[in-house]
Amino acid sequence: MILNARDKITRGLLSLAKSPLLFYPYYRYHLPLPAVILIENTNCCNAQCVMCPRETLTRKRGFMEFGLFEKIMKELSSASRKPVVHLHGFGEPLLDPLLSERITLAKTCGIKHTYIVTNASLLFPETARKIINAGLDTMKISFYGTDEESYHATMRRLDFKVALNNVREFVRIRRELKKRTPKLILQYLPQETNGAKTEEFQSMWRSVLDKRAGDCLNLISLENFGGGRAYNRIGERIVSVCFYPWAALSVLFDGRAVTCCMDYNGVQGVGDLNFQSLMEVWNGTVLSAIRRKFGRLDYSGFPTCLRCDWVHRR
Ligand code: SF4
Ligand code: SF4
Repeated sequence: MILNARDKITRGLLSLAKSPLLFYPYYRYHLPLPAVILIENTNCCNAQCVMCPRETLTRKRGFMEFGLFEKIMKELSSASRKPVVHLHGFGEPLLDPLLSERITLAKTCGIKHTYIVTNASLLFPETARKIINAGLDTMKISFYGTDEESYHATMRRLDFKVALNNVREFVRIRRELKKRTPKLILQYLPQETNGAKTEEFQSMWRSVLDKRAGDCLNLISLENFGGGRAYNRIGERIVSVCFYPWAALSVLFDGRAVTCCMDYNGVQGVGDLNFQSLMEVWNGTVLSAIRRKFGRLDYSGFPTCLRCDWVHRR
């Protein structure tokens, strides 16, 4: 199972674990390694989507050094239970010229599930062949429009026709190569700028996706993105335990580990994989203290969490 903070299934399954009253005694335990590790290959992006707070990104932009990625993968190769590895962060993963090499290395190191989220604008045939042959397992495509007008008003700086053609070609190439991976998840985010045409989106993609490969559609809703946007009204009251520190670890392109992918400016650091091992960060004093605090619904000192939708709703 892939944990994805925005998927309905994940939310449903984990909503119970957000209750401090029910699970408080168990909050001191955690898995020996995260179930999911999100590795930001780059925080650069060629788009400027309306709902994405990229204009507030203050971090330096860049690409993860391959040596650092290799270090992380080598450590994971000796783990008996390997996490799902996301190869993306606060950026467009296909901008990374080494993406297919990273996927190949992850698979060689025994990672069973590799995953990216892309806007598909650079998913040209040569890249498609490379990532299919490298063994990518799942690819989620953010496609937030049903025609040129709605797409361009939402996924600014991208081209509707190019992205649409890339996805169609991708499915054709995967079939031609007689592969069923990566499985595709076509994601839509209904909002004002795209007219929330959910049914049109569904009929637009139904005939393109291949059910035998497990392709599917996914609908999500607007998030405040740790305070980067203000789509949802949040009150002062904190009601939920965020399970991220028990389940997942996010690594920024420069090797710093942070509480989660919502912390796109890296202000809630939990370690640095340039100097520490994954095990040291995951089982270290910083994350242990965070788990204790979050278990008590205490998010003081965590500005991104305090403005995050997650802790304010069930
Ligand atoms: S493609 Fe993704 S990272 Fe880039 S602007 Fe859009 S939502 Fe943000
Ligand atoms: S910002 Fe904090 S509360 Fe929100 S998902 Fe991340 S760790 Fe959880």
